[in-house]
Amino acid sequence: MRYSSSFITQLPKADLHVHLDGSLRLSTLIDIAIKERIALPAYSEKKLQALVFKPTFKNLAEYLTCFDHALLILRKPKHLERCAYELGCDALADGVRYIEVRFAPQQHVIPRKFTIEHVIKAVHDGLLRAANEHNQSSAVKEGRDIPFVFGVIVCAMRTFSAQSSEYYAHFLKTKKTANAEALSQAALALIKTAVQLRDKEGLAVVGLDVAGKEIGWHAVTFKPAYEYAQKHLMCTTVHAGEDLGAESIYHALISLHPDRIGHGLHIFNDNQLALAHIKNRTLFLERLAGLMARKNIAIESCISSNFQTNPSIKDLSEHPLPRFVEWKIPVVLCTDNRLVSRTTLSHEYEILLDYRPVPPERLKALLLRGFTHGFYPGSWTERNAFIAVVQKQIDSIFAQHKIG
Ligand SMILES: [Zn+2]
Repeated sequence: MRYSSSFITQLPKADLHVHLDGSLRLSTLIDIAIKERIALPAYSEKKLQALVFKPTFKNLAEYLTCFDHALLILRKPKHLERCAYELGCDALADGVRYIEVRFAPQQHVIPRKFTIEHVIKAVHDGLLRAANEHNQSSAVKEGRDIPFVFGVIVCAMRTFSAQSSEYYAHFLKTKKTANAEALSQAALALIKTAVQLRDKEGLAVVGLDVAGKEIGWHAVTFKPAYEYAQKHLMCTTVHAGEDLGAESIYHALISLHPDRIGHGLHIFNDNQLALAHIKNRTLFLERLAGLMARKNIAIESCISSNFQTNPSIKDLSEHPLPRFVEWKIPVVLCTDNRLVSRTTLSHEYEILLDYRPVPPERLKALLLRGFTHGFYPGSWTERNAFIAVVQKQIDSIFAQHKIG
């Protein structure tokens, strides 16, 4: 069964893993850099794509250097608001009707000037502006389109960038502690603020994540922050198995108990298994994958991003996504970084649909899974009502196109 690109774009989709700083419009990045007199390696989109935002990278570490430029321009709440608004608009144009935008507030704080609260509110304001414009449109009011719902996921970092060193120093100085302890304290401070913004100000902050270089990380560093989130009924996800193998996912699962895993690309890779208690590696990997499936822990799979950071993976036949499906581990397709990975959510669906035929009922189930695994910001009843509206819209678009 072949589906047209316009059909895929039209279908309501959910993007559960998208980084704000990796999803800017290139034109906006250049515009802000010029206005703020920020040095970039070039000031044309074409040159920046050749020098910085390249089609492929040697590895995750090189890929992450793209974010240094984005972080330099996201140093004021008004720029965060603008970029969040534009991301909301771009996602809407791509048929996304539920989005969870993640970013690391601590990377944008300027001590004595812009606090964690300021930067989270700015991103929330931008997304709210995009949502309000869409939700008040005649298409939504007349029932031709469905509302747009968003949530914000705050990312704790495994390392701090140069831009956030002053903020990070605060934790080192006041606690006089080692690096890991400072990261742990910073993550705890972040989630405490996020919970407060949700509970006292009604912001749609829906989850906690850990991002950044995976090599050398210890899940247990972030245990206090995850425990705090879970104690306050905040959902959680973790970047794991993007650069490292099964052991990283194992530690994330047993220490942090996340609701979802970001990437999980190397879940079947036992290369880095150093755990002394593992005698039978095959059985260990099977148990780990089985745990994910049994506990219904979804993998946020970002195919284009995985291709970019793992040049050895040429196409989906070398990607574990077909195995996730075979193992009945729930998978949701996500963009990761619209700018850095040069993608849209429709494009991610097209990669899968080009790889092998997906019958209409399975495509519908895949689309819906994005919504059911979301950390919806409202009540469970509201979430169920929204999913019912999404389902009806999906069925109606398939019927309009006489598919299925
Ligand atoms: Zn990511």
